[in-house]
Amino acid sequence: MFDGIILVVEDDPTLQMVTKMVITRFGYNCEVVGSGEAAVSRDAADVALIFMDVGLPGIQGGHATMMIREKELTERRKRVPIVGLTGHAIREQCLQAGMDDYLQKPVLMEDIKRMLDKWLSLPKAG
Ligand SMILES: [Mg+2]
Repeated sequence: MFDGIILVVEDDPTLQMVTKMVITRFGYNCEVVGSGEAAVSRDAADVALIFMDVGLPGIQGGHATMMIREKELTERRKRVPIVGLTGHAIREQCLQAGMDDYLQKPVLMEDIKRMLDKWLSLPKAG
């Protein structure tokens, strides 16, 4: 089984709990942070995939994604796949911010499984 961390960036306590439960049930290690700032400042070395809520207090998910992409360039790290979680169909905003994919809320278990399968089966760049 893949041993990287799945990082969930979500401010809603219920969604934090449910998302973590689903990801853990699929056999992955999951860590939750409640803000974009926390996601940006977290050491990304062991992070395999990020689920990023778009609507966050403080810096928004799109802005946090841009900061993560900048940090990856500065630190010459591999690009971590980021899947946006949005309440609206704002696909273009997600992709323009540097996300790789997005899911529209409410997110179902099979949506999360689909993204885990899709983004963790890719060969790692760099
Ligand atoms: Mg939110």
